[in-house]
Order: sequence, then structure tokens, then C-alpha cells
Amino acid sequence: MSDDLLPDLIENNDEIPPDPKFNLRDLEDAIIYMISINPFYANLLMQTDLSIWDLKRNKKLRNGAGASVRITKTGRLDIRINPYFFDTLGYKDQALILMHELAHVILGHMTSNRFIDTRQKKVLNVARDLGIHEILTDVKKSERLGNISQTVEGVNKALKKMASEGRLLMQPDESVPQLKNNDTSENYFTTLMKYIPEGEDDEFFGEDDGHDFGEEDTDAAKAAVAQALQKAIANTKNNAGKVPMDAEITLSETMKNKVRWQSVMRRFLGTNIGIDKKTSVNRRNRRNDDITVPGNRKRGNPVIASIVDTSGSMTKEELAQIVAEFVKLEKEGYDIYVIEADTDVKRYYKFIGRKFTGFLGGGGTAYQPAITKAMSYRPDVIMYFGDMDSYDTPADPGVPFLWITTKKQEPPGKFGKVLDISG
Ligand SMILES: [Zn+2]
Repeated sequence: MSDDLLPDLIENNDEIPPDPKFNLRDLEDAIIYMISINPFYANLLMQTDLSIWDLKRNKKLRNGAGASVRITKTGRLDIRINPYFFDTLGYKDQALILMHELAHVILGHMTSNRFIDTRQKKVLNVARDLGIHEILTDVKKSERLGNISQTVEGVNKALKKMASEGRLLMQPDESVPQLKNNDTSENYFTTLMKYIPEGEDDEFFGEDDGHDFGEEDTDAAKAAVAQALQKAIANTKNNAGKVPMDAEITLSETMKNKVRWQSVMRRFLGTNIGIDKKTSVNRRNRRNDDITVPGNRKRGNPVIASIVDTSGSMTKEELAQIVAEFVKLEKEGYDIYVIEADTDVKRYYKFIGRKFTGFLGGGGTAYQPAITKAMSYRPDVIMYFGDMDSYDTPADPGVPFLWITTKKQEPPGKFGKVLDISG
């Protein structure tokens, strides 16, 4: 918070409000409610400091932000609450705002600072909030928070209006861009950056005063986030509660060696395989291994298309780990189709562990041909194992997609989830 508003306020003493009535004890009902609707969030809140935000002198923030999350100098996560705003909210809305801030932690926003210029930062903040409200959909349903929050629906309305006024960057014959529900923040970011001209930012996104998390991208921030997530995950699992996959992915990103990539991959499968197919996995789990002999494929098995970059970008050890994982998945009743690819698709086959003799080698990498081949298996999910060094930019196949990367590098396509297994 800056003090640059102070000179004005000294001339306008009457603008300084009386002490806020709200204090932290007033959050009790909100926290109980959070425990009942999502214990993981409540567990993460227990790992986070809560404080009352001193906004007496900052009218702009006092009337804008509901809360903010930051990492303190002593390496603690800290959610600061706007007492003036919280005092006017019911406990459910209070809980939703706290969960919004926690979602920034869960989604790794505190520890990734990839965009530098002011406009990108502003658009990214909006894109992230849109993504959060696709997870915390109760925010949209809230009478009080629904229309003051960034939502896909609200943005789509604004896009239509701006298009009708000729203020979007569109081709003459192009249809009005609209955001999809349940999409990623990355996609929201790309669309907004593409269509909204510079100079229209304030009009569209509002003034940048609700910016509710810092740009901490240091080792200390990562350690703070990792520690909080790790404890929250452990406490949630101890009570047989559900842990969001995003929390595990962020943890694996912030604390490489403590989380096995295999367990994150499992969560990705668990989240994306339909219920009917899950029962197929569970049923097979309880049977003997010999049910998976070739030709004995039962209908309704979940299908994983696994693309493996065999251009030589992955080490023998990494490839061996992947094969070991395929063997386990095969035993559990998944149908795994392997597409070996470098600049082109080299081989493709159904994975049968006891017949497997190793991957072929090659050179150079293009990603699109392999993804096209993967789609021919009509997979439930696609996983792409590689170093993300690509000649091409593949298109979103519209299937749950997991990039498993062996290098700290952005995937060539702006879709799917990323699991970084580099050391
Ligand atoms: Zn936010």
C-alpha cells in the first residue's frame, strides 16, 4: 500500500472514517462454513496468517479490494482483510472472499511472475480472477459479490458491447469473441490480450486497485507456499478429504523433490476420467492381472493416449520411469496407446508391458503430428512426455491434456495442464 494519498487526506480530515468495527473473531462463522463446504481450503487457511488491513488512509482501496494475500518478510502467507467491506458481508460471502485469496495460492499465482509489462500484469490479474470464479462458482451466485466480481459472463457482455461499438481488435468478418466457461486463466489471458486494444484497458478492466496479490517470485515465497500447501494437503488427506489437483501441481512446482510426479499424474487421471470409466478401473483393480491380456479389451476402459518425445530429449532414466508407470496403469485397467514421435509420428501401438522392448530414438521434435494421431484413439485424456522443445505450435485438441515436461520450458501449445518433472 502506498501513502501517496495522504496529502489529500490531510486537507480532508473528515474523509478518515471511524475505526472499523470488524475484527478477526467475527470470522468464526465464515470459517465454520468453509470447513463444511471445502475442508481443503479451511486447512490451507489454518496455515495462513489473517490480519486486518489498515486502510484508514486509503480511500481507494477501502472502497475497492475485499482482501489481499501476500507473503510477509518473515516468509508467512498473510491474508489481509478490508474491515470496512467485511463488516457489510454475510458469513458466506466472507468465506468466499477468503477462498478467492486462497485460490490464488492454490493456483500458483503467488510464485509465478512471467509477465512483466503493466498491461500484461493487469490483464493477467483479470484472467486469473476469471479462472478462480469458474472454480468458486458460488461467487457468481452471490447477490452481493456476483456483479462486482470478474466473471466470464460479465466479460462476455462487455465484449459484445465493445464489439457493437467497433472498439475491439477484430477482423470485419470475425464473430464477437466470447470466453468459454471452465477454461484456463491462460486462455482468458490470450483472448483478452488479443482483442482489447491498448488504451481501452481501464474502461474494460476497471482501474487497477483491486490487485489482490503480490508479485513474489522468490525462493522464500516458494518455500512459504510449498510449506502451507504441504501441511494443508496432509491434514486434508488424514481426514479423507478431497485435495484439488491444482494444489498438488502447484506444490510440485514449488517443491520439486518432495512430490513424485506420478502422484500428480494420477490426480490428473482421477479428475478427468468419467465416473463410468472409473468404475471400470476399480473393478479391474480387484481382479487378477491376466484380465489385461491383449484382445481381451472390455468396452468402457478409460483410454490414455500417451505421446512420448523420442527425439533424444529425455534421459534413459526418465523414459524408464514412464514405462514403469505405464505398466502400473495397464494393470489397473487403463488402455494406453503410445505414440512415439520426433518431427513426425514414428510408431504407435497399444502398450502391453510384457511385450515392450523400448522406445526408438530420433532427432528434432514437432508436436502436432503426434497429437493428431493421439486423437484417432478417441482418448479420455492425452499425456505428452517431452522437453517442450518444438518446431511447431500445436492446436488445442479439446481433450483433457497433461504436458509432462523434463525441462523448465513452456509447452508449445497454450492449453492443458503442465507437470514439470525436471529436477
Ligand atoms: Zn483475485
